[in-house]
This record gives sequence, C-alpha cells and structure tokens, in this order.
Amino acid sequence: MSLATPEASARTGYAINPLDRLSERRDDPAHVAGLMEHPSTRFVVVGRDKPILRLTGAGYEALFTREEAHGLGALRETVLLGRDSERAYFAQLLADEALVVREQPDEGALVDTNQLVVPGRPDLIVHDLRAVAVEGLLAPERIGLLGQAKSVLYWHARHRFCSACGVRSEVSSAGWRRDCPACRAMHFPRTDPVVIMLAVRGDSCLMGRQPRFNKGMYSALAGFLEPGETIEGAVRREIREESAIQVGRVAYHASQPWPFPASIMIGCIAEAVSHEIEIDRAELEDCRWFSRAEVKAMFEGRHPDGLLAPNPIAIAHRLVRDWADGAAPQF
Ligand SMILES: [Zn+2]
Repeated sequence: MSLATPEASARTGYAINPLDRLSERRDDPAHVAGLMEHPSTRFVVVGRDKPILRLTGAGYEALFTREEAHGLGALRETVLLGRDSERAYFAQLLADEALVVREQPDEGALVDTNQLVVPGRPDLIVHDLRAVAVEGLLAPERIGLLGQAKSVLYWHARHRFCSACGVRSEVSSAGWRRDCPACRAMHFPRTDPVVIMLAVRGDSCLMGRQPRFNKGMYSALAGFLEPGETIEGAVRREIREESAIQVGRVAYHASQPWPFPASIMIGCIAEAVSHEIEIDRAELEDCRWFSRAEVKAMFEGRHPDGLLAPNPIAIAHRLVRDWADGAAPQF
C-alpha cells in the first residue's frame, strides 16, 4: 500500500521496511521450508546484537545466500522476516563464539575501540546498527529490515527458557513464538513501548538534555509506558516528573520501531499548561523552553550558542521538525 502523502511514521529512522511479514503463513512449516530453500531467498545475520555486513565493490551489503550464512559459523535461531516483490528474507542468529574481539588499544579514546570480527574474514564487518544508520552505510529499507531482525533475535538470545517453569523452550511459528514443551506456555517476542513527546505552548517547545548526549544537543523528553497506563497518562507523568510542567491535551503524531534493544517509540505533541520548569537532575542535565525560531536555527546549524537539534534517525527529530514547520499538532 502506498499513501499519497507519506505519514509521519514513514519518515522516521528504522521505520522504512516494505516487507510483507507473511504472518498468516508462519504456521505452515512446508511453506516456510520452501521459502528457506528457494535460491532467491536471502539471509541477514546478527551476532552479539550486531549485524554482519560484507564490504563489496559497490559498498556495504547485509544480505547473504543460505550457503554464505552457514559459512559464517554456527547458527542458532532462524526467523522469517517476510518477503518483497523479489524474494523472501530470513534472519539468523550467529552463535556468540563465532565472533572474536580484536583489541585495538587506544589510550586516548573515550569509548571502547575494540572490534568484533569474524575470524579469517577481512571482507566482513560487525557493526553496531546505530552506527550503520548514522553513517548511512545501507539504504533505509535495509536498515528497517535489520532493525526487525535485531529486535526479534535479541529476544531469542535472552529467552531460551520458559519464564513460567524454567524448561528450555522451542522455537515455533517461523521464529515468532517460543513454546514450552513442559507447561505448554507460549511466549511471544516483546516490544517495549516508550512515549516520547514534545510539550508545546504557543510558539515554544520544551526540550531537555541528558549528560550522555552529544555536546549541545537537546531532545524531546521520553520514558517507558508502564502496565495499566494510557499513552496520554504516560506522557503527562513523564513530563511532570522530568520538568514539573503540567500537560493538558495530548496528540499522537508518529511512531518508530527502535531496535535498541526492542522498543516502539510513540511520538506525541503535548499541550503545556504551565511554564515554570523544575529539572529532575537524576534524569536531565538541563531542560528549557525553545522558541520556534531558535529550533529552526538549531536544525540549520546556526544557533548562537551552538545548540543542536536531535539526529535525523531519531523520532525526536521528526517531532521537533514537524512542529516547527507547522506539520504536527499545534497547541
Ligand atoms: Zn514452561
């Protein structure tokens, strides 16, 4: 299905994934086996939560044939991702021991510079998906597909045993369920909902920064939705907790699958009905109001204090930009 005007969610990072997930065929083992054996089928491989990419003459590639995937090392769970007009796609989890750490000591570095590698395969890189997206190493459709693969394989890697009785569970439904052979419990991959929201009041919006953010970057406030809570309730609670701002109306704007490790970001615009900020220092380093003109200057890299807007792969970018452009709800 294509829309005349792309909805906002179709313009967020990790959200572009045109696969038909074939959910109605997952419990047909003959059909799934036929897809897996078809010569046109391709596999993406994830090891230790990172996709394996191959460097080709034309750039990076995330797709492997079945034989190539098996050549990487011991494979564990397999998941049917879906198909497009050309072929079917599966995701496979590479055993942790198939990857080794290549130490790259750099005493001046602020981050861990060690690299995961597939031994004997200098043509392959094991790269964090966030870096793949930020560096634009793959087309957006491939990044969406890898996000789907990473999130469901993250769940398999950490849910091998029944959470009700402790017996080892078995993969079923083409990788979209685990069944317990002892107590018959069925376990489904989890997606953790997060609310992310821009509180606005006339010509101003509220943004904060966490100490771990890049220098000068401000973003929309966010937090996990809790059991028994509505989206609107979580938006009001999180804004109140982090900034003491009171919120009236809440409008949904866009969502984003966020594969770190397996969230759905629910992006909203919230009507601020108070003005005085009290910053929750346990969560935020700073939190303040920004005018629309200031936000536009941040996007254009000409803010007088060098302040920056959220990265384009984040849904916060979509929320702030659409509000500033008048393309999101205004309160
Ligand atoms: Zn059980």
